[in-house]
Amino acid sequence: MARFRLRWLIVAAGVAFAGSPSPGQETAAERQSMPAAARPWHHVEPERAMALLELLPAQRAGYRSDEDVAGLQRTEEIVIERLQALGYEPQTQDVPRPQRIAMLTPEEAPTPRNVWVDLPGEGERAGELLVMMAHIDAVPGSPGADDNATGVAALFEMARLLKDRPRERTVRLLFTNLEETGLHGARRHATETVTPEVDAGEFTVVGAVSIDMIGYYSDEPGSQTSPLPAGVTEQPLDRGNFLALLGIRRHQEFTQDLTRAMLEAEPEAGVVTLDMFVVPPPDIMRSDHAEFLIRGWPAAMLTDTANFRNPHYHKATDTIETIDQARFARAISQLVGATDLLANPTTWEAQQNDAAAP
Ligand SMILES: [Zn+2]
Repeated sequence: MARFRLRWLIVAAGVAFAGSPSPGQETAAERQSMPAAARPWHHVEPERAMALLELLPAQRAGYRSDEDVAGLQRTEEIVIERLQALGYEPQTQDVPRPQRIAMLTPEEAPTPRNVWVDLPGEGERAGELLVMMAHIDAVPGSPGADDNATGVAALFEMARLLKDRPRERTVRLLFTNLEETGLHGARRHATETVTPEVDAGEFTVVGAVSIDMIGYYSDEPGSQTSPLPAGVTEQPLDRGNFLALLGIRRHQEFTQDLTRAMLEAEPEAGVVTLDMFVVPPPDIMRSDHAEFLIRGWPAAMLTDTANFRNPHYHKATDTIETIDQARFARAISQLVGATDLLANPTTWEAQQNDAAAP
C-alpha cells in the first residue's frame, strides 16, 4: 500500500514554530530550523535553472555517430570544467563500452568517463557516504533536455550551493556515463570505486539517489499514467504534477528521511514516495540507483516518471522548450535543500526533536 505523502504539513508547522534566531547569532541547529523562506541559500531561480540546460550539447550519446560520441566527450569536459571553476578537483574513471555497444560505435571513439567530486564530511560521521548522481548521456536522436540535462543541472547546483556548507556526512556528486546503454557507468563506479571503499572501511553507503528527469510536469487530468495497479496509491495519480521518489521496503528508513528532507526544504513542492515494494518492479530499476540497490545499499530514484508522463521521452522533441521552468527550478531547490539536511543528520535530528517538543 502506498501513501500520498502529506506529512509535510506537520513538518512545515513544526518548522514554522521553531523560532527565529537573531541574525549572526544562530547556531548551526538553529540555522537549519529556520523556515524555508528564511534560508534562501538553496533557492534556485528558474532563469538560472534553464541556463544550466543550455550548457550541454544536444547530441551526446555513447554510440551511433561521430557527432554523438564527440558531443558526449564534450559533455564530460563541460562537467569537469564547471566543477574546476567552482574549486573542485574532479575525479574520473573510464567506462568501457561493452562489445554489443562498441559494435554500434565509430572505431576511434574515446572511452566515456564518469566524473565525480566528494564534498567531505567532518567529524565522526564523515565515513557515511551519500551519493547523489545523474547520468550525462542521452540516446541518439534525442536532445535529452529532460532526460537527463535536468538531473545534471541539479548536481551542478548542489556543487555550487553546498560547497561551503557545514557537513557531517560526505556527499558525492556523481555524473555517470552510459546510463542509457544499460547503467554501465553506475555499475563501473559501484564495483570499481564504492565496493573497494566500503571493503576498506573508508565509507558506509547511507544512501544513493539517481536524479533522472525532473523537468516535465502537467496539470491536465489523465496526463499521468502508472505501471502500478489501481489502488496502490490512496489518491489516484492521474495528473503529472509531482516528483516521484521510488525505492524499496528494505530501505524505507532512507527513502522516508529523504522524503521528509525534500518536503522540509520546499514545503510547496509535492513528492509522491513509492517505497513499499518488497521486490522492486522492473520499472523502478530503470536508472543508475539500481546498481547500488542490487549491492544491498540504500538507494532510490527521483523522477518525473519518464514515459509514464512525458510524451517526448527518448524523442527528438525532448527539448528545453518542454521543461516547466518554475517546477524544474523548485525541484532543484528541493534537492539541494534536502541534500543539505541529509548531510547533517545530527543537527537535523536535534531540530526535529525541538520541533516535536510540547
Ligand atoms: Zn533515458
